[in-house]
Amino acid sequence: MEIKKSKFKNGAKGAFSFVFDDGCYKPSTEKVISIFEDTEKKHGVKLIATSAHTVNFLNEELIEFWKKAFKDGWFDLASHSMDHAFAYNADIDIERRRKDAHDSKEALERIFDGMEVISFVNPGGTNTLDGCQVLKECYYGNRSNCEEPPYNDVDTVDLIYAHAFVPNFKYKDLAYYKEYIDTLLEKNVWGVQINHWISDKEQDTFHAQSVSSFILQCDYLASLVKAGEIWVPSFNEAVKYIKEYQDSELVINEISATESEIILKNDLDKKIFTYPLTLEVSAINGVTVCQNGITADYESKNGIAYINVVPNLEAKVTVK
Ligand SMILES: [Zn+2]
Repeated sequence: MEIKKSKFKNGAKGAFSFVFDDGCYKPSTEKVISIFEDTEKKHGVKLIATSAHTVNFLNEELIEFWKKAFKDGWFDLASHSMDHAFAYNADIDIERRRKDAHDSKEALERIFDGMEVISFVNPGGTNTLDGCQVLKECYYGNRSNCEEPPYNDVDTVDLIYAHAFVPNFKYKDLAYYKEYIDTLLEKNVWGVQINHWISDKEQDTFHAQSVSSFILQCDYLASLVKAGEIWVPSFNEAVKYIKEYQDSELVINEISATESEIILKNDLDKKIFTYPLTLEVSAINGVTVCQNGITADYESKNGIAYINVVPNLEAKVTVK
């Protein structure tokens, strides 16, 4: 029985994640949520983004607003520093970086009632690979600034320096975004988009994405999700999956020609890394997987069944 780890969930060809920075643009966020709602109604696909919060930008009204957005599942949470004051490079004292990384994580987890903060998003300036390594002490993922290439190879990416792509206000139709998304599928890579707010106003050009292009982009992404072409996780979900993909050893104990016991072994934190990892099993008809007392059936597509397995729990795989 041939089994291997799949780069992306359910055997998708590529992945795309939205990250919204700063956490203080309420009208834009309301608009984003209404577009996500429309997309779900139209395609049956629920999109989710990661929202990166600067602790000192939050006030009571924003905190209540975001608690609901998190609860409704449109966003999850990342840190965007305490006060947006500096970049992560060797010119900034390491103790200052260490304290900011630690304090912002702790503050956000407290403000948002124990929500998990596993990722950090750099606030502007010149961030460097070396300067960001200190983030490893309390985070698993870090979206850096726009670096070339603006996407990440999941086999080699250092998650504490994930590259990203910036939308441009002047592109109001789909073409600019379609080209980026199609490149992800063609190269089998993970793309991360840096957003601030979406807007219809020309004067917002520096940070904004036009509302019209955002609607078209969500529509395109959802149609590709439905077709099984792309995976659109939050940044945090992608970090969990990729970390498990990179760190897990696949141990296969063949019982017979059609039955194997498998386990994905890793030393990661067992409270955080429970995200099901997709495995590709060669099978003409399909596969049955029993894990933790739950049995699931998977059909094959072109001789491969994409099965989902939680790391560090034994699973029994039977080819039909
Ligand atoms: Zn920012």
